[in-house]
Amino acid sequence: MEIVLTAERCLMSSYNGALFLGFMSCAPRNLIPAPIFFKFILPPVKMDKEGAVLAPSGTRKIESVLIENGFNVTVVPPEKIERFAKKAKAIGITTNDPLGLGPASSTFSGKHGIVKEESYNVFCFKKLVERLNKVSDAKIVVGGAGAWQLADEKIMNELGIDVVVVGEGEKVAPEIFGKILRGEDVHGIFYGEVVERIPVNRRATVGGIVEIARGCGRGCKFCQPTLQRLRSRPLTDIIEEVKVNARVNKFATLHAEDVLRYKANGLNVNREEVIKLFSEASKICKIGISHFSLATIAKSESVVSEISSILGIPNKGQPWLAGQTGIETGSPKLIREHMAGKVLPFKAEEWSDVVEMSFGICSDNHWIPCATLIMGLPKETEEDVLRTIELIERLRSYKSLIVPLFFVPMGAISGEKPFSSEDLKPYHWELMISCWKHDVKWIRAIAKDYLTKMPLMSRFLLQKFIDWVIKEGEKRIEKMLAEKLCIRR
Ligand code: SF4
Repeated sequence: MEIVLTAERCLMSSYNGALFLGFMSCAPRNLIPAPIFFKFILPPVKMDKEGAVLAPSGTRKIESVLIENGFNVTVVPPEKIERFAKKAKAIGITTNDPLGLGPASSTFSGKHGIVKEESYNVFCFKKLVERLNKVSDAKIVVGGAGAWQLADEKIMNELGIDVVVVGEGEKVAPEIFGKILRGEDVHGIFYGEVVERIPVNRRATVGGIVEIARGCGRGCKFCQPTLQRLRSRPLTDIIEEVKVNARVNKFATLHAEDVLRYKANGLNVNREEVIKLFSEASKICKIGISHFSLATIAKSESVVSEISSILGIPNKGQPWLAGQTGIETGSPKLIREHMAGKVLPFKAEEWSDVVEMSFGICSDNHWIPCATLIMGLPKETEEDVLRTIELIERLRSYKSLIVPLFFVPMGAISGEKPFSSEDLKPYHWELMISCWKHDVKWIRAIAKDYLTKMPLMSRFLLQKFIDWVIKEGEKRIEKMLAEKLCIRR
């Protein structure tokens, strides 16, 4: 074997079938003891004679494209990597958030986060690279959604990384690994081109992720450039991957930035293709989704309802369909400034009504939005944050989760200053209280349903953990926040 592919431990876990638990890797390490975290919440993936039984979808894409180009590749879980790394000439690592600079990690952990403690994903990434450098002389190539954080020669040299690939890796990976295997001196930062043909995964993915489309096209200024153009995959390729996941995971999670815009014509939902996709996929196994856009939901109530009916939701095994989505702000001014495309075909002034309408449609059809907000966008004022708080209060009666995150400069505004806990003003704390109250109202009920598929001990520990967080929050966090705000509770 010449090439070994792996990922840091937080990305390469079965999550006991509960993919959203992956977000806990952004939490500060001192929140949950490591033995409990890695045994019960993020258990390792298994390995058979062909390699890791599960791997991140991005790793699987690189595996496929390298095999198509005639390379000898093995995907290995990070716990078992030493034995393989010793013999490899090149090691590829997938990472999402290697330095904790992504929105979730930078909000909750790290030097500038709310809790000044390193997150698990940073810890796991650094440990992995350190271990590899100790046992192997192979070239280390890092790619994935978080690779941009490493695109700096100084950081690469400090960590012992030879190559960083920013952007889509499918075109550039065979070239890079080919040069390494031919003994050429390959070093530096490579920028992957946008690909037209997305390869078909050969084996199952973590979380049963099956990419149905790549890109977005709504053009928010703070978004990654790789999401600029929407490309939908052929149904046959998707169905092949759903079948592969059905055999191992018994479910598949259809992934796109907005699943309703599969084969869309611009912003217009292609009802026929979306319904065909969900109908065909659901004949094979249980189907989940990753992301949706609230603007699309507001324009497509009947499609949302059809999907729920095709999937038979609600039922005992699947009481609802959860997906991530972005509210980002309740301020029309910030919408106009940074994300005019996000709300189309609606106007910036209509956004709060659109969000509430979409939450209503989700609620009626047993969909659960797990929504994000962005604090600290450039040009944000107190008035903007108060508009967001008003919106959050309006959403209280809809079963959902809302998470406020710090602004991270990326995309067209990558030169702006990142927001940090030192920048928090009383009105930001007020926004966080509002989200906290919203989430406390819904989290127990959502977790009760979501965790049923987990082993008993993991479920028990997670429920205890949620109870503890809520209790501590009620006792301490709210008191602390109230003091900061000097408001009457
Ligand atoms: S809608 Fe979401 S995925 Fe699309 S450009 Fe905006 S932030 Fe990016």
